[in-house]
Amino acid sequence: MVVKDMMPNFELFQPTQVKDALAILDSYGKDAWKMAGGYDSLVWFKERIKRPKAVIDLSGIAEMQGIKETADGVEIGALTTLTDIENNSIIKTKYRLLADAVAKVASPQIRHAGTIGGNASQDARCLYYRYGLPCYRAGGTTCYADTPEGINREHALFESDRCVAVTPSDGAPALVALDAKYVLRSSSGERVVGSEEFYVGPKIDITHMTSTKPEEILVAIRIPNTWAGSHFYFEKVADRNVWDFALVNVAAALKVQNGVIRESRIACGGVSAVPRRLTAVEEILKGQPMNETVAKLAGNSATRGARPLNYNGFKIPLMANLVTRAVRDAKA
Ligand SMILES: Cc1cc2nc3c(=O)[nH]c(=O)nc-3n(C[C@H](O)[C@H](O)[C@H](O)COP(=O)(O)OP(=O)(O)OC[C@H]3O[C@@H](n4cnc5c(N)ncnc54)[C@H](O)[C@@H]3O)c2cc1C
Ligand code: SF4
Repeated sequence: MVVKDMMPNFELFQPTQVKDALAILDSYGKDAWKMAGGYDSLVWFKERIKRPKAVIDLSGIAEMQGIKETADGVEIGALTTLTDIENNSIIKTKYRLLADAVAKVASPQIRHAGTIGGNASQDARCLYYRYGLPCYRAGGTTCYADTPEGINREHALFESDRCVAVTPSDGAPALVALDAKYVLRSSSGERVVGSEEFYVGPKIDITHMTSTKPEEILVAIRIPNTWAGSHFYFEKVADRNVWDFALVNVAAALKVQNGVIRESRIACGGVSAVPRRLTAVEEILKGQPMNETVAKLAGNSATRGARPLNYNGFKIPLMANLVTRAVRDAKA
């Protein structure tokens, strides 16, 4: 019998400096778990499905908190809460897309403690995996969702490889659309990667959603000012309006001049393991007027190549409609 609602034992560390957290990571390796707000982590522990030997509570590290403007954009500490992002004046004025996206996460309580680093790094919500079944993503040899009887209405339309789970994050597509960079630090140095390298699908690593290595900590997320003040649009459709993960969401940044779209970055969540950047749509939009006809063309193009499972075919028109609305209704 699996005993639930009771945490297994682990060693708890509460460092106040990144270097101390990294030293603990180095000594425990894969047996260590990094925890920020804990909204993803604690559920895993409570259900006794993940059992790390050491938990490193990062929340006391001041260096990883807060939002500051830099010469070429804005830097957001990975521990900055979703509420702080939603209410920050720099974000609201220049990068409203991110404020709009994180405002749609879960509930006010979760946004008060949940961090942007944790939101971008959170694990898949596939019910079979979360229940603790030994599927591919859990290191096993089967997928329970991609079967004729599998419950897969929340699963992927694109680029699945054995695992058909999707990214559940509302923050991540907005970060992709804003061309965010992720600052990953280990005791041997720092690397800064873009979204295409940070988020990983099952072809690259079926047991992780990001390329963060066990010995690394995501210390900050940088948003360049390239897209500051663009036309933005975020929309999420879920089964319930609050406290629910997206079935599909869309985040769009468009540079519009005299009614003509000069450039765009558009990403959808809930349709593949990583936030899906719609590069073909972005190409189509270059130099086009921002109107209903072009928006519909964008929506229809967005779903090209989609491969629905038994129960998630509804996501195709849903995604097309969201992209159409994003292109038609984005506002500066
Ligand atoms: C009931 C419920 C509803 C939810 N609804 C939504 C929703 O609608 N939309 C949405 O986007 N999310 C939703 N979530 C997820 C929630 O927003 C995220 O789990 C939360 O933002 C994660 O942040 P955290 O700081 O609590 O993460 P944690 O639980 O602390 O960490 C999450 C993961 O990220 C890793 N991690 C955290 N910080 C770092 C770091 N700095 N460096 C490296 N790794 C790190 C942890 O190891 C862990 O694997 C929901 C969660 C719950 C419980
Ligand atoms: S979709 Fe992925 S996470 Fe879900 S059961 Fe299949 S392999 Fe596991």
